[in-house]
Amino acid sequence: MRKQIAAANWKMNLTLTEGEALLDAISAKPHTLAPNQEAIYAVPFPYISMAQAKVGAKTNVYVAAQNCSNKLSGAYTGEVSVTMLQSMCVKYVVIGHSERREYFNESNELLAQKVDACLENQTTPIFCCGESLAIREAGTQNDYVAGQLTESLFHLSETAISHVVIAYEPIWAIGTGKTASSDQAQEMHAFIRSHIASKYGASVADSISILYGGSVKSANAVEIFGQPDVDGGLVGGASLIADKFVAIINALKK
Ligand code: PEP
Repeated sequence: MRKQIAAANWKMNLTLTEGEALLDAISAKPHTLAPNQEAIYAVPFPYISMAQAKVGAKTNVYVAAQNCSNKLSGAYTGEVSVTMLQSMCVKYVVIGHSERREYFNESNELLAQKVDACLENQTTPIFCCGESLAIREAGTQNDYVAGQLTESLFHLSETAISHVVIAYEPIWAIGTGKTASSDQAQEMHAFIRSHIASKYGASVADSISILYGGSVKSANAVEIFGQPDVDGGLVGGASLIADKFVAIINALKK
């Protein structure tokens, strides 16, 4: 059974005190995670220890990083390596968020190196892909997303790709309040799964969790997560409000 995941992406938001208060407020609200469900908090690097302390030993709850370097160590001032994150027991890293692709010029080739760095150090990449509005309007979104997957993931072995979580995030839906319809999400998720199956076979493709991201809210999460190929969400804005994120966790499929 595929994992169903509600992943919070705090981006560059909240002070330390606000982050602590948010995690306390989420803990205080009723939510339970079934054995196949996880909640993940992708927090800014300096808040990782705080978030781990807050999350404690809660079952199926993890703290993630929002990025890592493609290098493992050395003279790269300001960078954070996956080996550093691993030494802090961080299990997940978001790789290739569209904001990193756009503002920090991260290419598919660089992201392939980051994915390798994660997998070689027992860390699960949450690999983001997704098209711009211009690509969606031109109707070439499937080719575009297939290219992102092929160039950053298709060098992996069958075993290695099975350890990747994919997040499909259409750029036109991120932080815009414009969500893909549940049909659009399902169509792309099914396409992503079929593209993976074309190289690795159906059983590998069926085992990979594919999250949807792009203005997920408490009001649309049940419908989007209810789609057969949608295995939860990567959530920005709504993850910063305790009530909303708890409702999103509670919307995960059992
Ligand atoms: C994101 O940060 O990955 C995201 C999807 O943001 P939002 O939910 O605010 O659209």
